[in-house]
Amino acid sequence: MVVENDTVVTIAYTLKDADGSVLDASGDGEGLSYLHGHQNIVPGLESALAGKAVGDEVNAEVAPEQGYGERREDLVFAVPRDRMPADAELEPGMQFRAQGEEGQEMVVTLVEVGENEVQMDGNHPLAGQTLFFDVAVQDIRAATAEEISHGHVH
Ligand code: ZN
Repeated sequence: MVVENDTVVTIAYTLKDADGSVLDASGDGEGLSYLHGHQNIVPGLESALAGKAVGDEVNAEVAPEQGYGERREDLVFAVPRDRMPADAELEPGMQFRAQGEEGQEMVVTLVEVGENEVQMDGNHPLAGQTLFFDVAVQDIRAATAEEISHGHVH
């Protein structure tokens, strides 16, 4: 069996940036299971895994447009301080859930606290970065009909 649409794939992975710093990794001995072909992982990694078998190792270099997108400066915006939760200790790096212009849920990161307003960044923290994945395919199975209809692993 190989990785193809509507298979559940378990991978062990390490994600590094261009400097070789580890950004994310599956835990020791633990894998990440995802439903292939349903946009559950970034497109560049998904296409690098297509056709692989259990035991295969994949080193994928994923450009921003195949990863978390390019950075968009129009997603950086200011919010008056009095619109922030009054009891929150505001610090750069804090993340908040917000509604985007089309009503979609997005995560925004506080980047700067000013006297009267705070700067927020709606870009994904990894937007604009080339991603370097080291992946080992640990398991592949056919997805259930329910998983396919839901678009995710159960
Ligand atoms: Zn479900």
